Amino acid sequence: MRVVVVGGGVAGLYFASEFLKFAPHVTLVVVDPKPIHEFVIGIPLAFAGLVDFEDLAFPFSDLRRVVHVKAAVVSVEGGCVRTNTGPVQVCGDYVVLAPGGYKVGSAEYWSVEGSRRLFQAVEGSRAVRFVVNEFTPVAGFAEIAYAIKTRFPEKDVSIHVVFIHDDYKMFMSIQREHMVKSGVEISEEPPPYREGELRVSVPAVRIHPIAAGLDVDPVTFETQHERVYLIGDSSLLKLGLPPIGWGALWQASTLARALAQEVSTGVFEVEATDWVVAGDRERFLKWLTYRMTTGTPVVHLKGLFDLWRASVLRPLSGE
Ligand SMILES: Cc1cc2nc3c(=O)[nH]c(=O)nc-3n(C[C@H](O)[C@H](O)[C@H](O)COP(=O)(O)OP(=O)(O)OC[C@H]3O[C@@H](n4cnc5c(N)ncnc54)[C@H](O)[C@@H]3O)c2cc1C
Repeated sequence: MRVVVVGGGVAGLYFASEFLKFAPHVTLVVVDPKPIHEFVIGIPLAFAGLVDFEDLAFPFSDLRRVVHVKAAVVSVEGGCVRTNTGPVQVCGDYVVLAPGGYKVGSAEYWSVEGSRRLFQAVEGSRAVRFVVNEFTPVAGFAEIAYAIKTRFPEKDVSIHVVFIHDDYKMFMSIQREHMVKSGVEISEEPPPYREGELRVSVPAVRIHPIAAGLDVDPVTFETQHERVYLIGDSSLLKLGLPPIGWGALWQASTLARALAQEVSTGVFEVEATDWVVAGDRERFLKWLTYRMTTGTPVVHLKGLFDLWRASVLRPLSGE
């Protein structure tokens, strides 16, 4: 039995660790063009000085319980995926697509390297202005703003929400209290141009090209191709949900348990979460908001980072 996971990010690795807990003898192949897994949710921690940027990158070669194929998937053909390294196919009994979202825009704070460069620019600026003018912006800008203000109280830090999806407005309004207390200004107007200030245009996240032609079942996350599933940011966007990590983790754990059960008993049964059972999008969004906003953001993320290393990466390394 072989399971192919496309994308070793938050959704892909959480799926792998949960699935191997219940089905330890299955061969799990992770296809990802990068040599490292990047724990992007932790990037604000590096801005806050709680971890180093390099702490957020983990070589796939250390994850001995999975087989890493270093390649980018270009298309899905039934139970096989085609990669960009010549006419190469990787096939499995199940295929779980978790390629994240496609990022549109220039401020590369969604990668460890890109965010390290942004941090250097922040250090040399007296003010940092985040400008949000996207329907579905790449998450994390609010946490980064908060982290910068916490570490460099002398800098002016502001978020300018010119345009945003209503679901994000909801997150922002709950986070506003933390922001205002810490001195981050939130406005609905674009900032005026002033010399010596850094403007960060928050990029948008869109559906990944390999997921473009796929339909996703909102309960099982199966696509129109049998035994091919789509989870993570692109899946959430297709289901009309905000592309954020908590949603990706929820999908990964739901699918991992159901597939592991199918492998061992022949029955696929999804866990009965409120949203899945009732199809109640509003309740699900409330739950997501709660997960996103409880606790002081950066301290809360440090706990998640420690948990990720101890409960996801260490078991996948065979420790
Ligand atoms: C700075 C920052 C802070 C954030 N903070 C939070 C937070 O506090 N809470 C929260 O809920 N969310 C947060 N998010 C959002 C969260 O990180 C994403 O929602 C989450 O990473 C999505 O997981 P994913 O697996 O779908 O995508 P990713 O984690 O982006 O992983 C996608 C993986 O797929 C690989 N890939 C891409 N294309 C291909 C291909 N063609 N073939 C094979 N592999 C491919 C990539 O290399 C990558 O490893 C934050 C995001 C950022 C950038």
